[in-house]
Amino acid sequence: MNKPSNEMSITFSALSENESFARVAVAAFVTQMNPTLEEITEIKTVISEAVTNAIIHGYPDSDGYVFLHCKIIGDKMEVIVEDHGVGIEDLDLVRQPLYTSRPDLDRSGMGFTIMESFVEQFEVTSKIGEGTRVRLIKQIRTPHNAAVHEV
Ligand code: ATP
Ligand code: MG
Repeated sequence: MNKPSNEMSITFSALSENESFARVAVAAFVTQMNPTLEEITEIKTVISEAVTNAIIHGYPDSDGYVFLHCKIIGDKMEVIVEDHGVGIEDLDLVRQPLYTSRPDLDRSGMGFTIMESFVEQFEVTSKIGEGTRVRLIKQIRTPHNAAVHEV
């Protein structure tokens, strides 16, 4: 029989004070995959960038929610970060290193580039007025070793 997939979802208000909550929640969920410290740091960074984007760019002038979904598939974790905010007009443009629409907020335009560099697969889909969805796959390369947790 196939092992059932392990998934979790969180919905939270698009407030910057929830960014660290989201980062820690995903790090806690991925712990069962026995990641290295480096892998945890990379996952936290990716979540932080994606959630920050959803909060500050997705909802620049309005309230809203961020939807976070994680799924463990073997040695990979799929993460989806979604907002129902303003959306992105030109995806090729915004994914270029150093592109930012908010230099006034001291953003550096490196969020997407950083996210992409730490994961195996990375996709962004968006529709103006409907929102943005980031989907990524991160592989956890350390061998599973349940016994380590049981002692
Ligand atoms: P940094 O992440 O380095 O602080 P940044 O957020 O501007 O700066 P990226 O994360 O690479 O850089 O994002 C590039 C641009 O893509 C943003 O400036 C913004 O215009 C757009 N963008 C990113 N995420 C979203 C989103 N969820 N909704 C709307 N626009 C977005
Ligand atoms: Mg960013």
